[in-house]
Amino acid sequence: MTETVITRFAPSPTGFLHIGGARTALFNWLYARHTGGTMLLRIEDTDRERSTDAAIDAILDGLRWLGITWEGEPVFQFARAARHREVAEGLVAAGRAYYCYATPEELNEMREQARAEGRPPRYDGRWRDRDPSEARPGVKPVIRIKSPLDGETAVDDQVQGHVVFPNKDLDDFVILRSDGTPTYMLSVVVDDHDMDITHIIRGDDHLTNAARQTVLYNALGWRVPVMSHIPLIHGPDGAKLSKRHGALGVDAYRAMGYLPAAMRNYLVRLGWSHGDKDIMSTEEMTEWFDLAGIGRSPSRFDFAKLENLNGHYLRATPDDELFEIFLATLPYLEGGPALVERLDARLKGQIREALPGLKERAKTLNELLDNASYLWAERPLPLDDKASALLDDDARRTLSGLFAVLKAAEPWSVETTEAAVRTFAEANGLKLGKAAQPLRAALTGRTTSPGIFDVLAVLGREESLARIADQTA
Ligand code: GLU
Repeated sequence: MTETVITRFAPSPTGFLHIGGARTALFNWLYARHTGGTMLLRIEDTDRERSTDAAIDAILDGLRWLGITWEGEPVFQFARAARHREVAEGLVAAGRAYYCYATPEELNEMREQARAEGRPPRYDGRWRDRDPSEARPGVKPVIRIKSPLDGETAVDDQVQGHVVFPNKDLDDFVILRSDGTPTYMLSVVVDDHDMDITHIIRGDDHLTNAARQTVLYNALGWRVPVMSHIPLIHGPDGAKLSKRHGALGVDAYRAMGYLPAAMRNYLVRLGWSHGDKDIMSTEEMTEWFDLAGIGRSPSRFDFAKLENLNGHYLRATPDDELFEIFLATLPYLEGGPALVERLDARLKGQIREALPGLKERAKTLNELLDNASYLWAERPLPLDDKASALLDDDARRTLSGLFAVLKAAEPWSVETTEAAVRTFAEANGLKLGKAAQPLRAALTGRTTSPGIFDVLAVLGREESLARIADQTA
């Protein structure tokens, strides 16, 4: 029988859920789902100064928005400090770790000397075989692990391969501070073990930590989980991801009007591939996701790609579903809160009716909202520059004629208004566009919009005629 896979996402709540963290969470989630296993969530809140409740909320909120779920309640690392300490003391009792009474001055000296000799700073092991009775009174000890003195420690990584670290580079690192609190290295190992984690998938900035953690696993006689260290995300120019490139919290992506499904699709392709498939549903990525498909070189974040993908998802999402998402996202969008305030049943109905036309022309929900704004614009409509240039005397005379024929349309619908406009255009020797463009400018204040007959139908007779009349000569 094969063992059930248990993965975890282990963010430190010192900031928002950034794009790299979201991708790590997604990979863990997909791998767990792909294998029929589970993903757990661990909040690594041991840095008491920098961990905040607001950051925890932002992380949970970001995961929920992305549709990434975890099993059970999140585990809070700080609450497990007593267990971490117990493990550290157990290692001392077993002779695998020891109390170190080196003073800050001594440690400083070691660092200075290493620097003078051009070596990386390493603890020299001076308390490794010394008895605590030799300690000066009053010095509170730390606990250090006894790292192997020679040979090497290997990390068998599913992405990075067999990575070897000479043990002389892994000194006797601290696992319990003098105030009795565990270090990150210890907490992670103990928690992963206690949570029965079988697979660790995280950023490759943790690869060196993986070697130290392996030393700890070995000292404890615990099995090392299967490790996968994924290359970090870079900007489009290959440099480290900066804010300008998209190193933002996922909440910023919600506010820019990206759909969760598009984000999942975009993120999964950042560092993982399945043949040449670019667009895949969440079901498909779940079915296909594997560790072997994770690449070894850094992926590049590309806003233009994300936009295109999002446009695809806007068009592909069924209208009712998209409308729900739009309403739920509204408070976060630019100009959304103002719209929420005036959103009555009539306007809601109009937006829903206009949605099929709107979604064809937008790449983000923000754009969609902006393109829909003609629906609630106040008369007389402000015209943008192009619309105002378009409405010259000729165009305004055309509008007067159109006003008369449209007024007679009965009942008011896409079909009747279209028939009226076409008949008018033919009778006056105008191309349809020559009639439609002034109409568009008068009805929306712009020169681009969804289909003009849809616009007429959604706005209704009264409002349409009034907007036309506002612009007639
Ligand atoms: N808390 C660490 C971080 O946010 C992750 C630790 C791990 O995945 O082992 O970088």
